[in-house]
Amino acid sequence: MHPDKMYINGRWIDAINKIDVINPATKKIIGSVPNGGATEAKMAVEAAYPAFQKWSKQPAEERGKLLMKWFDLIEKHKDELAEIMTLEQGKPLQEARGEITYANSFISWYAEEGKRIYGETIPASSPDKRIFVQKQPVGVIAAITPWNFPAAMITRKVAPALAAGCTVVLKPSEETPFTALKLAELADQAGIPNGVLNVVTGDAESIANAWQKDSRVRKLTFTGSTPVGKILMRGAADTVKKISLELGGHAPLIVTAQADIDKAVDGAIASKFRNAGQTCICTNRILADESIAEEFTVKLAEKAAKLKVGNGLEESTDIGPLINEEAVKKVIKHIEDAKQKGGRVLTGGNRLTNQKGYFIEPTVIANAKDDMLCMVEETFGPLIPVATFKTIDEAIERANNSSYGLAAYVYTENLREAVYISEALEYGIVGVNDGAPSAAQAPFGGFKESGLGREGSRYGIEEFLEIKYISLGL
Ligand code: ADP
Repeated sequence: MHPDKMYINGRWIDAINKIDVINPATKKIIGSVPNGGATEAKMAVEAAYPAFQKWSKQPAEERGKLLMKWFDLIEKHKDELAEIMTLEQGKPLQEARGEITYANSFISWYAEEGKRIYGETIPASSPDKRIFVQKQPVGVIAAITPWNFPAAMITRKVAPALAAGCTVVLKPSEETPFTALKLAELADQAGIPNGVLNVVTGDAESIANAWQKDSRVRKLTFTGSTPVGKILMRGAADTVKKISLELGGHAPLIVTAQADIDKAVDGAIASKFRNAGQTCICTNRILADESIAEEFTVKLAEKAAKLKVGNGLEESTDIGPLINEEAVKKVIKHIEDAKQKGGRVLTGGNRLTNQKGYFIEPTVIANAKDDMLCMVEETFGPLIPVATFKTIDEAIERANNSSYGLAAYVYTENLREAVYISEALEYGIVGVNDGAPSAAQAPFGGFKESGLGREGSRYGIEEFLEIKYISLGL
């Protein structure tokens, strides 16, 4: 159904040692991939480097055509890809299909955007000079991606990189390598030339270290946790690589007294429980005006209680399993900590013991306080604490009191309030009456320790371009 070997220079490469891939809904092994390391990482660069010399010289239009062939094949294999994703990652099939559509939207968007890498001429200070500015592809890109969006986090990096003329060495998460390998197989079928996209599976540290040290790798692009992002940023210093980081978040959702309560409840549900709460832009804490907090929280709990938890392969499932035992333990720790500090569990609060996998009930906690773990640490699970505030400025201050700055949400029907709050929030993405702001044509990225750079949109392709200034004397 899907390849289970590494994809380097257009060939499928095996290794003696393997890493098992687990279905988080059943804890059963669904297959294994090669446990590659520094040797395979180097092999991939040795393919990507010469491939760059050719690929970067192809007209953007030709690269765009190949990207569109890849797009078509992904579209054709959407159901198969979604099933692979649900098996290895757990998200409900409907969400998995949605992710494939979203992932593919980066490919079609950048297939076009690659044709619009414009330069500039700047008036010179003397009559016998001309100043030209050109944009050129950076070179070989190392991409390291997480398990929560096994397809979209890959295409959001690979599509702009390839469209710009770069080549890629990719290490997908060890938890979700099959989606990545299937995407590589389809890229191969689309005719993306050998060495332009390479996928290495295996030991994260040895692969990343090999790429970090290699001066032929000119850029590192990473999505994952803030601690690993910091390690990679330090490592990139040795060869002064360019770096883009999409790291953790701790999204606040502010519900003001002027909000449409039902809209706010729906937005909070969409933002919090998608992917079982395992997205970096998931609402992590709600700040509700004290005058409407009771009504809002009761409605939120009622809706959350109706969400069906189960195996993502069953079409009726709303919330799948968490990725692994560690993830479950973290959410339980946050729930217990909140209870100890006076939080009231309105719904959920438990691990599901009638299921084999890593399941937790959707949980709503009222009376949340800012010193609770769930109010400061990224929970990455289906738990939502609701705290109250008295004034808008207090809400903004508390929302900004975080080392993270990825996404924030505001619910209000008042235009002035919407503008005032959204402009004051120290976050890269603000959803105003919108719990699902991601889109291929919009810039995604964070302030503060949530990352560096942007993905998606015309800004996203700039991350894969160098600016060259040509000074022409006449
Ligand atoms: P998550 O919490 O999403 O698993 P991680 O940051 O642990 O976040 O993982 C994201 C990606 O980073 C995965 O592909 C993982 O294998 C990789 N990774 C984990 N540790 C390291 C490391 N020390 N160096 C490089 N990559 C790493």
